[in-house]
Amino acid sequence: MADTAHTADTAHTADTAGTADTARVGIRVDRDSCVGSGACALFEPEFFDQSEDDGLVVPRAREAGPEALPALRRAASRCPARAIALVPSDGQGSAGWDRSD
Ligand code: SF4
Repeated sequence: MADTAHTADTAHTADTAGTADTARVGIRVDRDSCVGSGACALFEPEFFDQSEDDGLVVPRAREAGPEALPALRRAASRCPARAIALVPSDGQGSAGWDRSD
């Protein structure tokens, strides 16, 4: 299963290399589910931080280009609370950012 996911990452990145605008991915976090483990901030600090107040995830980006997809997928898979979701970008930088559904 992991091999399949890795292959899919590589294929997606290659397929979308020339169409970065349409291939951008939205990054959505659910702070209600986050348990503050810090794995996302530790391994992918470009995209995730933790609040000094409550220790919960603070995303640094609302969306990213296709080149970031492997790193974002790793972060999502490492999250023990499954609080990180990657969604299709709406092209306006929101990508369901403030939604909890
Ligand atoms: S890895 Fe998941 S649970 Fe841990 S801080 Fe990041 S979003 Fe929260």
